[in-house]
Amino acid sequence: MALIVHKYGGTSMGSTERIRNVAKRVAKWARAGHQMVVVPSAMSGETNRLLGLAKELAPSQPGDSHHRELDMLASTGEQASSALLAIALQAEGMEAVSYAGWQVQVRTDSAFTKARIESIDDVRVRADLDAGRVVVITGFQGVDEAGNITTLGRGGSDTSAVAIAAALKANECLIYTDVDGVYTTDPRVEPDARRLGTVSFEEMLEMASLGSKVLQIRSVEFAGKYKVPLRVLSSFTPWDIDIDEEARSGTLITFEEDENMEQAVVSGIAFNKDEAKISVLGVPDKPGIAYHILGAIADANIEVDVIIQNLSKDGRTDFSFTVHRNDYARAVDLLKAKVLPTLGAAEIVGDTKICKVSIVGIGMRSHVGVASKMFRVLSEEGINIQMISTSEIKTSVVIDEKYMELAVRALHKAFDLDQTAA
Ligand code: ADP
Ligand code: ASP
Ligand code: MG
Repeated sequence: MALIVHKYGGTSMGSTERIRNVAKRVAKWARAGHQMVVVPSAMSGETNRLLGLAKELAPSQPGDSHHRELDMLASTGEQASSALLAIALQAEGMEAVSYAGWQVQVRTDSAFTKARIESIDDVRVRADLDAGRVVVITGFQGVDEAGNITTLGRGGSDTSAVAIAAALKANECLIYTDVDGVYTTDPRVEPDARRLGTVSFEEMLEMASLGSKVLQIRSVEFAGKYKVPLRVLSSFTPWDIDIDEEARSGTLITFEEDENMEQAVVSGIAFNKDEAKISVLGVPDKPGIAYHILGAIADANIEVDVIIQNLSKDGRTDFSFTVHRNDYARAVDLLKAKVLPTLGAAEIVGDTKICKVSIVGIGMRSHVGVASKMFRVLSEEGINIQMISTSEIKTSVVIDEKYMELAVRALHKAFDLDQTAA
């Protein structure tokens, strides 16, 4: 007997028919003798619908006072789907109970709309499991010290599931979604993308942080920290397929590098359109400039990603960086108000129509020339690179967003990631 956590995403929970299928699948696992905890997302579209209603009443701005209420609101999506799943499980003849985050408790900090899990109490859940019940716990939400409901950021049910698996020391956490595993890139952008049988924890962490939303980054961080065995698989296989076959399907996140395994140089391509570029032009080229500009941005709690400083000419230089698009307007306003006047910089220009495309692979560590191959492929496609950032196992470029798909496909082919190359 094992303790297994299943997580089902919004599409997998998208209708009563699909919820019934989830219940049948979970019941199959429970009848095979496993203790089951299930973490569902809200039904697909529900979180957007709820947040859209709030936006109709008050356009959301960072720093708004109504973030607490947004969490009260958005968390109801998961509460509804959890109750529906428990009802469906009972209709399948299972004993099942559903809990909201505050009932378990899933304790978080108080950063509404992007809270972090601090601890999970396992007493109540263990008692139910020991009594033979299937336990359904809302994804995406928790409760802070003062008893306020919090949510974990978009895609946060992945993190709930992995954190719950870690707290319960589950034997495995299975993330059921609308694709049958982690692919070399988003199969919606490159239909020739190939499913990876395994992906290393480090690669998955990079892919998630660079935009591939198949797993929320914090879920991968939790898996790494607590060594939670984690697998991504499809909820669209027939619910009654052989359980051993199902348990081996999808993509396994691995924690140990297999020395004997022939490591692909590049294992995947990630991309995102969530960032915007800001350039401060004509700043004096002297010590403290980066601190002066980025210090003001950091003080406003805005995260900076790629940074570039141009060569100086006549004692002046240009300084560019990217921020999340949601923070763009605030960052520009702040620079205009606080930094331009004190720096005597010429002007600030911004570009919200950019994207970041990244190649990821632990094999890059031991291969030279991978980044230059990336640059060559992009230049052959006539794509101008605006910014570059590298680490040991990834290279990212910032380009015009209209070339995103072209860049992803060209790189996918050039690095032999296509299905036909396997
Ligand atoms: P869920 O609702 O189940 O959490 P998400 O929409 O959050 O599902 O994540 C699954 C989606 O992630 C897929 O439909 C796919 O379009 C996208 N995706 C992005 N990059 C990848 C990748 N490398 N491999 C698989 N799916 C990816
Ligand atoms: N329902 C939330 C969202 O849409 C959380 C999740 O699905 O993981 O972002
Ligand atoms: Mg998701």
